[in-house]
Amino acid sequence: MSVASFVESLHQFLQKDQISENETVREQHSIDESYHKGELTQVVVFPRSTEDTSRILEAASRHAIPVVPFGLGTSLEGHVVPLKECVTIDFMEMNSVLTISPDDLMVTVKPGVTRSQLNRELKKHGLFFSVDPGADATLGGMAATNASGTTSVRYGVMRDQVRDLEVVLASGEVIHTGSKAAKSSAGLHLNGLFVGSEGILGCITELTLKVYGIPEYEMAGRATFPSVENAVQAVVSLLQSGIPIARVELLDEISLKQLNIHQKMSYPEIPTLFMEFHGNEAGLAEDVEFMKEIVAMYNCEAIEFVTDHAERSRLWEARHNLAYSFIHAFPGRKMMVTDVCVPISELAGAVRYAQEKLHELDLIGGVTGHVGDGNFHVILMIDLMNPEEKERANIFNESLVTYGLERNGTSTGEHGVGYGKQKYMHQEFGAALGVMQQIKSALDPQGILNPGKLLPARGDGVNEHVIKS
Ligand SMILES: Cc1cc2nc3c(=O)[nH]c(=O)nc-3n(C[C@H](O)[C@H](O)[C@H](O)COP(=O)(O)OP(=O)(O)OC[C@H]3O[C@@H](n4cnc5c(N)ncnc54)[C@H](O)[C@@H]3O)c2cc1C
Repeated sequence: MSVASFVESLHQFLQKDQISENETVREQHSIDESYHKGELTQVVVFPRSTEDTSRILEAASRHAIPVVPFGLGTSLEGHVVPLKECVTIDFMEMNSVLTISPDDLMVTVKPGVTRSQLNRELKKHGLFFSVDPGADATLGGMAATNASGTTSVRYGVMRDQVRDLEVVLASGEVIHTGSKAAKSSAGLHLNGLFVGSEGILGCITELTLKVYGIPEYEMAGRATFPSVENAVQAVVSLLQSGIPIARVELLDEISLKQLNIHQKMSYPEIPTLFMEFHGNEAGLAEDVEFMKEIVAMYNCEAIEFVTDHAERSRLWEARHNLAYSFIHAFPGRKMMVTDVCVPISELAGAVRYAQEKLHELDLIGGVTGHVGDGNFHVILMIDLMNPEEKERANIFNESLVTYGLERNGTSTGEHGVGYGKQKYMHQEFGAALGVMQQIKSALDPQGILNPGKLLPARGDGVNEHVIKS
């Protein structure tokens, strides 16, 4: 059936301003923040409730129209980029914080709430939500990509925060995947299944999440090292020592240079760890002394601490804006970010390999990363008009993924698969990929949910039509 007859059916239950066929709106919903390209979405719809979403999906199923769920479009692997004729479902109007339960350390939100919006609300109750990707993403999008950030080393990733999701399935049926209990041994782990499913199994319309009390005392600092390898080795030792580190981020020389220019900072342009510790003042004083002894063993050249709230915020804001520092420095170029995650014992070797490869392939890029998790990024700025340079960037990305997979790592620690990393799924999962494809077929037999993303074609029609296009 046609998109036109589908849209006609939407007019029976949505308001006129919930359906947009405006060219600019369609263009804005057909890209993400990366170099990936696709088709133009046909229509953008803006549900205001779970019921709207359910009726949209029920109609999409009846008309066999592909739909792409959309949060803020900050993903980096073509997740929201249409690969064929489709309709985009934007959750921005479902953006209320429904309940905050300080006693249960829990919050229930609609999917369009952004992480900074949630933290503004939580602050009034002395609470915070821990997951902090570098973009101000929506919680629906963050759950759908299993996002993480600078604090994951201490508080875990998105999957660790989800107690319950309300999900609308392809048929329009509404289910809950968990409960409000802190733990449960009942049933299969549907929270885990839907978190990270990139909109291919259902649309998330409500999330119940764990939150935390704002720590009594926080200390942040920068430690500089003669080499990236020294810095990474120091992190491994810090983790082994059991010091309760809340954040530990690596920036190489090139990243610091971009950060200094764009954020008007004057940090030394040498390999640096940005660190943060949470706890009480007396306990932290001891931890920090111990930390100094450890980093000294790895030739740490200097450490500077900040406890003042404004200075600490400036430091982390600078780190969060690092990718944008690169984007501003190279107008006309597009960002390609690698996202390999390896066992921590392999991290130093992986970062060294990445730096050597960058040099060998003569590419512009900086190394940064959530090194406490074994996850690091190389931010490449590529000229899409130069096919030879794009090819070198692809070779770089691919060689890093291969290096990571050969060491029992993963092709993507936090950004997800979209269609950019799909080609690695066979190598990463082997026979388990078949199980994932069967789950997809069972939940979305017509393959209407975000087709062509995450899972490669199975050979039975699901996703296949898209991969060919
Ligand atoms: C500068 C920059 C820095 C970044 N830093 C990090 C980082 O540190 N850590 C990290 O993890 N990521 C990072 N990212 C990637 C990105 O911000 C995350 O992947 C984020 O979780 C995407 O959220 P979004 O709201 O923009 O979702 P979108 O990009 O709109 O969507 C992402 C995926 O989720 C699906 N989706 C969206 N909403 C729903 C829903 N309600 N139900 C079902 N599926 C849905 C979409 O179909 C798509 O597959 C960064 C991106 C940028 C541009």
